[in-house]
Amino acid sequence: MSERKMPTKLVHAGARRSQYGEMSEAIFLTQGFVYASAEEAEARFIEAGPDEFIYARYGNPTVRMFEERIAAIEGTEDAFATASGMAAVNAALTAILKAGDHVVAARALFGSCLYVLEMLGRYGVEVTFVDGTDLDAWRGAVRHGTRAVFLESVSNPTLEVIDIAGVATIAHAVGATVIVDNVFATPVFSRAVSLGADVVVYSATKHIDGGGRCLGGVICASRDFIRKQAEPYLKHTGGAMSPFNAWVMLKGVETLALRVRQQAASAQALAEALSGHDKLARVIFPGLADHPQHALAMSQMGAGGTVVTLELKGGQAAAFRFLNALGIVKISNNLGDAKSIITHPATTTHQRLPAEQKARLGITPGLVRLSLGIEDTDDLIDDVRAALEAA
Ligand SMILES: *Cc1c(COP(=O)(O)O)cnc(C)c1O
Repeated sequence: MSERKMPTKLVHAGARRSQYGEMSEAIFLTQGFVYASAEEAEARFIEAGPDEFIYARYGNPTVRMFEERIAAIEGTEDAFATASGMAAVNAALTAILKAGDHVVAARALFGSCLYVLEMLGRYGVEVTFVDGTDLDAWRGAVRHGTRAVFLESVSNPTLEVIDIAGVATIAHAVGATVIVDNVFATPVFSRAVSLGADVVVYSATKHIDGGGRCLGGVICASRDFIRKQAEPYLKHTGGAMSPFNAWVMLKGVETLALRVRQQAASAQALAEALSGHDKLARVIFPGLADHPQHALAMSQMGAGGTVVTLELKGGQAAAFRFLNALGIVKISNNLGDAKSIITHPATTTHQRLPAEQKARLGITPGLVRLSLGIEDTDDLIDDVRAALEAA
């Protein structure tokens, strides 16, 4: 499978068939596995072979198919699926850190990622936050003893694009592990591993499911990282993905490239159509030439992504009028769904941040984050234009 192109892998990689030769991947909705003998049970606990399972917290055939499929697309040796994206973020960090370690992280992060990094301080891990777009800031923050760096390759919700290759060079010079939360880039536009990321994490809840059904996450890395660091931590702390959710995700992955490319094309068209609109103070989209990291986004992802962030003139009141006037686009806080979704970060996903931190991150009262779905592009542009008039 490894020589095949991505859309082929999305459909076929990792598939395992039972003796029935089923076409669609089977759901093995079982937490345990029967051993033919006591000796076989003993042997499996010493070392389980590739088709041998012990307990669903450790692994399950349906979950394994999902892990192998994602690893094949991402270009890593292995992967471990988790109950949610946050379980993946938490495990990728906690599995390798101990008191006294130092971590450098980009400051523009999804609210829960920020919580996890702040929480590490309670366990004696020192975390330094930097402006992720400033390579000099990363250079100044890493030091001998920096164990890991953490970044969202495209930040939520302000869509800053971080130079993975630049940060990886700086981090590797001090021996730090580079952990990239790649949700906004999606596996379709990801070149994170070839750019130097050691560990790539996804919330599968977003584009990978793509239908707003299940929570899930996945950690992609070398076999050594997955089997010696992530798996021991996860199998004992209970962050496993459910087999049912893995099956939903496998079906989602089949159509991932079709959906994400359509979403990205709509995002590009919408951003271009709205650029310079008199109701908008800013249109933030990495695919627009005026985005500060436009060139980087094009070389790193080859596209602007599936999310457009808008800043309305007139602050929160205008933003709320705009949201309430939308017809097709739904007000919610997921992203990557087949349905277009809009969020007002300042009062929802980033509500808990103090005002000055919101201001520093550019999360202004007029800012809205729009995740493009797979509806007709012109319908979406019409819906947004009409709602802007109403605002
Ligand atoms: C949604 C999201 C997460 C968390 O994923 P869940 O599946 O909701 O736990 C982590 N990072 C980013 C960038 C996200 O957008």
